[in-house]
Amino acid sequence: MPIPDTAFHDVIIAGAGPVGLFLACELRLAGVSVLVLEQAEHPDTPLKALPFGLRGLSVPTVESLDRRDLLDDLKAHMARVETLVTAHWMQQKPSPGGHFAGIQFFRDQIDAARWAYRLPGPVGSIATDMASIEAVFARRAETLGVKIRRGCSFESFEESDASVIVHAGGEAFEGHWLVGCDGGRSAVRKASGIGFTGTDPEFTGYSAQVVLANPDALKPGRHYTPAGMYTFAAPGTIAMVNFDGGAFHRAEPSRDHIEAVLRKVSGVDISVIALEIAATWTDRAYQATAYRRGRVLLAGDSAHVHSPLGGQGLNLGLGDAMNLGWKLAATIRGDAPGDLLDTYASERQPIGAQILDWSRAQVALMRPSASSRALGAIIRDLVATGDGATYFAERVWGVGIRYDLGDRHLLVGRSAPDFELSDGSRTNELLRNGRGLLLDFRGRASLQAISDRWADRIAYVGVTTDESLGTDTVLVRPDGVIAWACEGQPSLDEIEQAAIRWFGQPESST
Ligand SMILES: Cc1cc2nc3c(=O)[nH]c(=O)nc-3n(C[C@H](O)[C@H](O)[C@H](O)COP(=O)(O)OP(=O)(O)OC[C@H]3O[C@@H](n4cnc5c(N)ncnc54)[C@H](O)[C@@H]3O)c2cc1C
Repeated sequence: MPIPDTAFHDVIIAGAGPVGLFLACELRLAGVSVLVLEQAEHPDTPLKALPFGLRGLSVPTVESLDRRDLLDDLKAHMARVETLVTAHWMQQKPSPGGHFAGIQFFRDQIDAARWAYRLPGPVGSIATDMASIEAVFARRAETLGVKIRRGCSFESFEESDASVIVHAGGEAFEGHWLVGCDGGRSAVRKASGIGFTGTDPEFTGYSAQVVLANPDALKPGRHYTPAGMYTFAAPGTIAMVNFDGGAFHRAEPSRDHIEAVLRKVSGVDISVIALEIAATWTDRAYQATAYRRGRVLLAGDSAHVHSPLGGQGLNLGLGDAMNLGWKLAATIRGDAPGDLLDTYASERQPIGAQILDWSRAQVALMRPSASSRALGAIIRDLVATGDGATYFAERVWGVGIRYDLGDRHLLVGRSAPDFELSDGSRTNELLRNGRGLLLDFRGRASLQAISDRWADRIAYVGVTTDESLGTDTVLVRPDGVIAWACEGQPSLDEIEQAAIRWFGQPESST
């Protein structure tokens, strides 16, 4: 099939879900051309809107959105979400901070001072919906010049030393790289031959909007029962978990089926008059055996799937995109150090594996067995302690995430604190152009001279701050991760080596 000239792009992304769109924005910000191929004709579906599209965004995600100036846009879309969440569990006193298998931990018991790598102050996670997040990302992507082809389903690809040819929607497109952001059943992953391994489901989960004959018979809220779990919000929003070994997943649930499962898990003689919407999901926990093969990379659900209980999958995928975007762009521009792209998998695969285990542990607590109930009672006691609440908040909010960058400094490998700087700016704002940062809290000319050699990739910021967490110099990667930090007088050679490690050779020598 002939390839039209206009079809060449640095990166072709399959899938315009949240991860594909966010990755496209990251790549464009870093100056490479991007084509996104999406199988669906239209972005909107009822499952992306409230109540089923509700998604909790963890602290690293909120920080990433702030670092790309997307938070205000998202909040503008969120008025309805706030109403819903405000009317729901966040209104409880004491204020819940989240949950583990439905066991809540409370904000007033969390001791955030133990997170010595974070600045003091409120820790923010927010709720949004899939429709809003995709709309905000799509608008930003289009503003940046990303091409999005909807109704164009990825079918196959061929790879050569220099490029990939992608067949999609009956056309062929050529690019340097192909990234599969096409969800849990990823056609890109399958076509690449990358393995997908993990644990099989124990249950089928259902999200359904129904009309009930006797809604008063069901108690609102979340309930664990001898047969599974259900949540109910009047008049007819239901989520439920039926421990059937995942047997019903991907089948089309009928009204009769939903009624039967609801009766089973709730133990209530409930009558479903009409079924308006229904979707199924499972606790299948699988991860790609590699995140890259040749010119093909995977991000988001195409690289990992797990139970949505605990709400981590979107956050995990957006973390992949933030990590991959600048590294792939630097590789395409030719200024990346040789192994930079490999660090995408070495940093993100362990984080993915931890999240899969976190979801498996919750399933173990939810099983309708006496032993799981007994274990749940112990976890409930632990969560009620200050140590327990702080531990669960650190895991659920994602504040403890750290990449092993081989440096023992407390901050290295972690998300950069949003330092308030003496010129009125903040770290997150300074990262919005997608470049790295050298923060020099003592404003030394020698450091500026070093940094200026990477002026196209690193911005030097010589300012003071009232609270620097004991650091004097901090090198921040474009994804907001601290690459190197030092207290006291830094060795200029060390700074130079750190800059070469993450940003490649300086301008003069490339
Ligand atoms: C009920 C439920 C609740 C959840 N709650 C949360 C939560 O609170 N917090 C959280 O972090 N996560 C949550 N998740 C998980 C989260 O929704 C997913 O992890 C996230 O949507 C993954 O994004 P993605 O872009 O990787 O994949 P997807 O959202 O699946 O997007 C993939 C895109 O690729 C497209 N596509 C598929 N095949 C092709 C093809 N062949 N060619 C081109 N395009 C293709 C699809 O149409 C789609 O647009 C929840 C999930 C469910 C089911």
